[in-house]
Amino acid sequence: MQQPSPLTLWKAFVDEDLCIGCGKCTEVCRTGAIMIIDKKAVVDFNRCVCCAICVRTCPRGAIRIVPYSFPILQREVERGEDLDEIKVQLKGIGTQLEEMERSIKEL
Ligand code: SF4
Ligand code: SF4
Repeated sequence: MQQPSPLTLWKAFVDEDLCIGCGKCTEVCRTGAIMIIDKKAVVDFNRCVCCAICVRTCPRGAIRIVPYSFPILQREVERGEDLDEIKVQLKGIGTQLEEMERSIKEL
């Protein structure tokens, strides 16, 4: 497993627990990267260009910009992969995420 590098792609990521399926993010996404499936917003990472408009639009704060590897790591956790290794990587990702969120607030 690789540490996120400066070349890591950043993408929008929806917290399903916070999303209420209102669809406001789908209306503002200019690349059609978000759709509502089973009353939850889902991001097509291939279309997301990381513009962060959806982040500022979501009334629930359900969308964050994260390293592209983050959703992949989540799936690995669900499959029971090496949790200690994943925790170390998630800590690093968390630091990057905080920096990214600070940048977004300054936009
Ligand atoms: S705007 Fe937020 S709450 Fe509404 S569908 Fe999109 S992610 Fe979910
Ligand atoms: S960050 Fe931009 S391109 Fe990506 S899902 Fe949100 S609005 Fe669409």
